[in-house]
Amino acid sequence: MEEVIDVAVVGGGPTGLMLACELALAGVRVRLFERRSTPVRESRALTMHPRSLEVLALRGLEERFLSRGRPLPTGHFGLLDTRLDFSGLDTAFRFTLFLPQAVTEALLEERARELGVDLRRGHAVEALRWDAEGVELEGSAEGQVFSCRARYVVGADGARSAVRRLAGIDFPGTETTRTSMLGDAVLERPPSAPFLAINNAHGNAVIVPLGQGSLYRAIVTDALREGTPLREPLTLEELKTSLERVAGSDFGMKEPQWLSRFGNETRLADTYRRGRILLAGDAAHMHYPAGGQGLNVGLQDAMNLGWKLAAVLREGAPDALLDSYHRERQAVGRTLLRNTEAQSALMGFTPETLALRELMNGVLRNPEVNRHLAEHLGGLDVTYPAPLLPAPPDTRAPLPEWTGRRLADVPLSLADGGQRRLYAGLHSGRWLWLHAKGGPRVPPQGTPGWTPRMETLEIDAPRAESPLHGVGGLLVRPGGHAAWAWAA
Ligand SMILES: Cc1cc2nc3c(=O)[nH]c(=O)nc-3n(C[C@H](O)[C@H](O)[C@H](O)COP(=O)(O)OP(=O)(O)OC[C@H]3O[C@@H](n4cnc5c(N)ncnc54)[C@H](O)[C@@H]3O)c2cc1C
Repeated sequence: MEEVIDVAVVGGGPTGLMLACELALAGVRVRLFERRSTPVRESRALTMHPRSLEVLALRGLEERFLSRGRPLPTGHFGLLDTRLDFSGLDTAFRFTLFLPQAVTEALLEERARELGVDLRRGHAVEALRWDAEGVELEGSAEGQVFSCRARYVVGADGARSAVRRLAGIDFPGTETTRTSMLGDAVLERPPSAPFLAINNAHGNAVIVPLGQGSLYRAIVTDALREGTPLREPLTLEELKTSLERVAGSDFGMKEPQWLSRFGNETRLADTYRRGRILLAGDAAHMHYPAGGQGLNVGLQDAMNLGWKLAAVLREGAPDALLDSYHRERQAVGRTLLRNTEAQSALMGFTPETLALRELMNGVLRNPEVNRHLAEHLGGLDVTYPAPLLPAPPDTRAPLPEWTGRRLADVPLSLADGGQRRLYAGLHSGRWLWLHAKGGPRVPPQGTPGWTPRMETLEIDAPRAESPLHGVGGLLVRPGGHAAWAWAA
């Protein structure tokens, strides 16, 4: 009889790898199909945001990534001159991490292999058939047909997702109206600023060192060339000419390692779930890469989906829990699209846009506005208002304002005298029930048939200086958001 696996993940980019890790951590039998036979060398993404670092820290993985990247205390919104300041944010990671996507993927793959994920490279999924019990996948690997049956399939196969198409999920949105150029190349005369960002009447340009000798990334949008189709190959000459026009110099660009174009096609999947088929990452949302967010949101999709799929498969959680993945993450995807569109609008070249930029540069000097946008870009402002588990029997003095809140990695004083950080209680990928001495002692329950796996920690009543001051009981979702809280 054909073996049935729990989850087939299609696509071994950052989203698929992260999801596979989460599933394997929870003991789910997962098989990952990746079309490419070798890892990709070029890095589209270079930026990891604070919430993604928190997501990694929730599973104790942050050091692997921090040790390979470079923290940058500021970021940008729409290439405005007034930088976003991450240094005062309420997180252990008050910076963005400069980390090439190829390294992120290699580190996630390393973790996936440690957890025993069955990773099949060189496997392209081409057909899906489903019934009430599962999904049949079919594809090709080195000219041979392969097939597999899984209880659930997740399409993490990027913006041109085959899974999305085969599942018949619409991907409405807008076509490309502007293309930009990307070149990773040697600069003989690099700019003196470590991060050069220009936006003027000729176009815009960004130049950043790639941390490999004299290799730099240049991203250029040329007002005279922004209508160039994506399919037209980019040449070094074209890039140098545009750079000269926009930035006044080609910085002695030579020896390109990678030349490419990308555009502002913007789309959101109609649904993130159709029965036993789910979408995550770029397969669900596509947009101009302003502010470096796609990979980050993909990792966060994976965190939201992983423990829910595991709960349905391993703990008897109701299938409807997976609908909450669609609800919670599509809302985030929609906001993501709006903010990239807003940034695209700010990255224009008309006199009106340049005037708007001047105005916005002033507005961003207001610390509260600056913080608001930094938190938003950093992924720190996401809340999930539905608690997902019923309130426990002991419901005295609930604190509803806590429900859905993202929790920072706060230090805890344990009732037995020990010290621990909140996230350490979530490394196992289970729910965390924190109760203070004197607070509610009855742990939260599941629903009929669902017994959620839960860690329990008894803590001292949080002191006045603790962000948890006044909290007597706190139920934390496996992804680090509060489900319920009760007063001390
Ligand atoms: C110029 C540029 C700069 C960017 N900078 C940033 C940044 O700084 N920060 C950031 O967060 N994001 C950035 N992004 C976006 C980021 O690169 C993507 O959002 C991210 O790669 C999405 O990850 P994913 O795993 O969802 O999809 P992908 O990375 O596209 O991975 C999908 C995988 O699925 C595989 N696949 C496809 N079809 C099949 C199939 N049929 N069967 C099996 N496998 C299949 C592919 O080979 C691929 O490996 C940038 C994008 C661009 C273009």
